Amino acid sequence: MQSLVSTERVRVLPGTSATKGRIVWDATKSLWFFAHAGLGLAGVVLYPQPDAAAVFVVLTGVTICAGHSVGMHRLLIHRSFAAPKWLERLLVWLGTLVGMAGPFGMIRAHDMRDWHQRQSVCPPHPSHAAGFWRDAWWQLHCRFDLDRPPRFEIEAEVLRDPFHRAVESTLMLQQLPLAAVLYAVGGWAFVLWGVSLRVAVSLAGHWAVGHYAHRRGHQGWRVEGLPVQGYDLPHPALAILTFGENWHGNHHAFPHSARLGVEPRQPDPGFWLVRALVWLGMARGVRLPGSEPPREGLARVGPPSQNGPSSSTPSADIWA
Ligand SMILES: [Zn+2]
Ligand SMILES: [Zn+2]
Repeated sequence: MQSLVSTERVRVLPGTSATKGRIVWDATKSLWFFAHAGLGLAGVVLYPQPDAAAVFVVLTGVTICAGHSVGMHRLLIHRSFAAPKWLERLLVWLGTLVGMAGPFGMIRAHDMRDWHQRQSVCPPHPSHAAGFWRDAWWQLHCRFDLDRPPRFEIEAEVLRDPFHRAVESTLMLQQLPLAAVLYAVGGWAFVLWGVSLRVAVSLAGHWAVGHYAHRRGHQGWRVEGLPVQGYDLPHPALAILTFGENWHGNHHAFPHSARLGVEPRQPDPGFWLVRALVWLGMARGVRLPGSEPPREGLARVGPPSQNGPSSSTPSADIWA
């Protein structure tokens, strides 16, 4: 029997198994995706308008960058910087508008996957080991139910936050106020592009990044002894499209770091936003790769950065 390790929010219990379980169709998740994909497609066909396309681009950018990447991922999940409560709630609300999960669901999905990937054996669902179509089906339409799961604990400060609780319990309904505003401004064209197409593209895009970033590709570092590695998707256009989340190899190496594009020529728009928030006096305590001791097993891969010698952490001038 494999020995299991606990992580920050995931506690291994006697009898816990990281591998025994079933992949089951998740009706709500699946129908949510199909409905938005269908309506989004209808929007493109029925209303091929530049203004509606602009609404889609702007709202997708704001919700993915400020909401998902900075609010949910870098702030709520990793606490890679500190922000006042009102800003945390605003960013988390924007992240909920992505349509993937509420604050608790997002923490859980992220941390359970991370927990799985830190065990000696990781099943194919949380490791994205299946091929393109099968993994798409598993991640966008199914869930992996463990027979004997570990205990999952979200910190009390987040769990008791009345705003986060309200958003979590009304996850899908959160699209309605936005849809109402969009309808008032631009009719059904704006609603279909600005809500449905955006949600479908965001969900599919998030899956695609997760799929490719756990299979093969560029790595600045690797974490020895783990069954699953993170990889960078090293195209500058992908860095802009994903707001820096493409630097996933770096994220596995330095999960606490607010900066994901830690090396030269690794644009990281999400980190630019964090920097802007610091400049505006709204964020502080930004954590970078060197803010924590290196992860166990962290090893440099490939050519050393031009800015410093090969080492387990990037030289300080990379992010100065
Ligand atoms: Zn990962
Ligand atoms: Zn993460």
